Amino acid sequence: MSEQHREGPSVAQGVARAKSWNFAPPVGDLVTKELMTQQLAEFLGNSENFTIKKIGESCLRRISVPVDDVTDVIWQKLRDEMLKKLLQAGGIGIAAPQVGVNARCCIVDLPPCVGIGDVNVLRFNGRNLLHEKKMLPRLFMLNPQITEKSTQLRGLPEGCLSVPERRAGDVMRPWQVTVEFFDCDGKKNVVIADGYAGRCCQHEIDHLDGILYVDYLQNL
Ligand SMILES: [Zn+2]
Repeated sequence: MSEQHREGPSVAQGVARAKSWNFAPPVGDLVTKELMTQQLAEFLGNSENFTIKKIGESCLRRISVPVDDVTDVIWQKLRDEMLKKLLQAGGIGIAAPQVGVNARCCIVDLPPCVGIGDVNVLRFNGRNLLHEKKMLPRLFMLNPQITEKSTQLRGLPEGCLSVPERRAGDVMRPWQVTVEFFDCDGKKNVVIADGYAGRCCQHEIDHLDGILYVDYLQNL
């Protein structure tokens, strides 16, 4: 996810799957582990020259495969290389399909300002980070799952490192979510977040199912 959501118009209301954008809708293909392993080797073998995948590329439209052994050091390598790409691009989140790897992992790296104003609930492994006046640490999520979501929806603009031209309109999402994921040490973590923190988690996990934020926008 990029920080582009901080600016621009807020136009569309409601959730409407785009029907006439000039890109392919999610195809729902399940990637094989063999293909993912090959993608991983390709990215790690030449990550310096790898650019973030852009809308229209098939890896962004596939359903990524779960990670078998979260403690395998290869995931730490992937994390480190994905983080470099994220920092170079100046974003606040990135998912593995954006570097051409269809594995279920992503990074959420919120700046401190996201914790002010629009976030009312922010818990990490039972700690109330808002009371502690802390933001979420940088998270590398392996096999993340949204286990609870609020019925309350809210619409806000979003941006994405894989969508170069910003598309106007609000993305309607549950305002608050609970996300469970594993880290590279094999530990299970739980984040409960609303506002942009919850939104960023949802945006990145959508990438693992081949969904881009523009899919939620009405064709304006
Ligand atoms: Zn994105």
